[in-house]
Amino acid sequence: MNIKTHRFQIGGFRALVIQDGGRPGSLEAMIKRYPDVPQEALENAARELGIDWEAIELSRNILLLDTGSQCVLVDAGEGIGDGQLTDALPAAGISPETVDTIILTHGHGDHIGGLTDAEGRLLYPNARYVMWKTEWDFMLELAQQVEDPDYAAFIRRNLLPIQDRISLIESETDIQPGIRALPAPGHTVGHMALLIESGGERLLHIVDAAHHPAQITYTDWSPRFDRQPELARVTRRTLIERAARENLPVMTYHFPFPGLGRVVQRGQMAVWAASTP
Ligand SMILES: [Zn+2]
Repeated sequence: MNIKTHRFQIGGFRALVIQDGGRPGSLEAMIKRYPDVPQEALENAARELGIDWEAIELSRNILLLDTGSQCVLVDAGEGIGDGQLTDALPAAGISPETVDTIILTHGHGDHIGGLTDAEGRLLYPNARYVMWKTEWDFMLELAQQVEDPDYAAFIRRNLLPIQDRISLIESETDIQPGIRALPAPGHTVGHMALLIESGGERLLHIVDAAHHPAQITYTDWSPRFDRQPELARVTRRTLIERAARENLPVMTYHFPFPGLGRVVQRGQMAVWAASTP
């Protein structure tokens, strides 16, 4: 087992990024995932940014925070099949029983699939869970749908076992000291970003507000998984502008492992600069 992990500090918080999984990027995948972006625009971007689409491995980067008093997991990964998180935690010396809080940034399968095992048992039996209320309500509605019974069953398996332990957020708020939930809708109806702050250091986790580093420059590119593309663009720009203005270290869920970097200015363009604190 060779699961990628990366440790760093945010002030007094110990942070660990675990790769739940990854897959190679390609020009073909970009064309499929960004149907509204003309191929010339992709070629132009490759020239302007020096991107090799095939060389960018997209990831699932899971953040685990040890605040000193609490163990907080941000999303639960893909789960059964491809998800590596449940193997990675014990390997990193962390028992799932000790996870106190799981923040679910949104309800997509690659973020909630790892909440339960195949029998529907909770993998983190002692955790409390946090999600945006509009997202939770939306997901529970999807869980009733008949058009895609497998997906509905998947949602029920992962979300119904936590319904008595979930705290639902309706506005920007501190989930706990140093971990602030920011509304970041558009990718999904109740998608959440996080601002983590300890000892004067900060990290802005934009999660799925951008899926590919090129979107830091081309903020109007929305992948087909953005449910409300117009709103997703506004959210993306707002977060990226803030990161640039405040020179914040940034984390992303799907950029190449460990998904950490900053937004820097190159001439007229804002660009992604991967860097690991
Ligand atoms: Zn995702």
